[in-house]
Amino acid sequence: MSAESDPAVSVRFWGVRGSIPSPGPETTHYGANTSCLELRADNQILILDAGCGLRPLGLKLEEEFGANGFEATLLITHTHWDHIQGLPFCASAYRDSNRIRILTPPGRRAQILAALENQMQPMHFPVRFGALSAITALEELPAAGKSIGHVRIAATDLNHPEGCGGYRLDVDGVSVAFLPDHEPYHSSTLRDAASAGAKAAEKRLAAFIHRCDLLILDTQYDEAEYPMRRGWGHGCVADSVALAIAGEVRELVLFHHDPSHSDAKLAQILARAEELIREAGSSLLVRAAREGDEICLSPAPPSGTAGPVALSCS
Ligand SMILES: [Zn+2]
Ligand SMILES: [Zn+2]
Repeated sequence: MSAESDPAVSVRFWGVRGSIPSPGPETTHYGANTSCLELRADNQILILDAGCGLRPLGLKLEEEFGANGFEATLLITHTHWDHIQGLPFCASAYRDSNRIRILTPPGRRAQILAALENQMQPMHFPVRFGALSAITALEELPAAGKSIGHVRIAATDLNHPEGCGGYRLDVDGVSVAFLPDHEPYHSSTLRDAASAGAKAAEKRLAAFIHRCDLLILDTQYDEAEYPMRRGWGHGCVADSVALAIAGEVRELVLFHHDPSHSDAKLAQILARAEELIREAGSSLLVRAAREGDEICLSPAPPSGTAGPVALSCS
């Protein structure tokens, strides 16, 4: 993004669904592919999660770069299928001309490597993990985070069965947080919530996302569904809005849509989020993640007071 008119960051959604792909006539608007985002910043390609949205992203990268190849960093949040199942089907990952570095949350390298190898065992898939010749490294993010060019990457633990890493990326005055699988601490029965103390854990998470321009957050359920899914590791709309307001973020993106939710149901959940924000008297912006959408973010001009500018590029 070298030209002055280019946004500092663009985020494109390739997979927005949780748990399992959900194709059909009732999901054509928001999309059916599982977790995968493409983030472009500082002339770099960052990929968040390798759900089945990675397959069409891989094809698009092939089309864009062809035989010249590309370099990308793939940040994986955790090992559940909906976050890794696209990698064996990513054509770009089999080409020597491409270079893909995988980053894992701190302390999770061995777990993620084992899962990536296991899902390509012969009983599951005919090609082994080692055939992904574009993968040049699989590294753990240091606990203190690290910078890749201008992009500062930090991670935090989320409240999810077997754990999940949430990421925050700060670049050139713009910040994006990606918390794809997370259950609110205060109402969860998960072990981490009880041991850490729900209030302290929520405070820590609000600090992690503080003043992000974009918070992409697990909002799998509505308020009627959540009590029946307590302990499953996912969030509901009221808690997502509350966390975004507590963190003073600019825009909340409802993510990890339940596979049983139709486009009409997702529109209802989005309307409920808007209602909750109005009731709270907050200026928080909100949208539901939709496959194919791209959000461009630029820092505010020096004299501006309104914060970074978010534009829907498509
Ligand atoms: Zn998931
Ligand atoms: Zn998960």
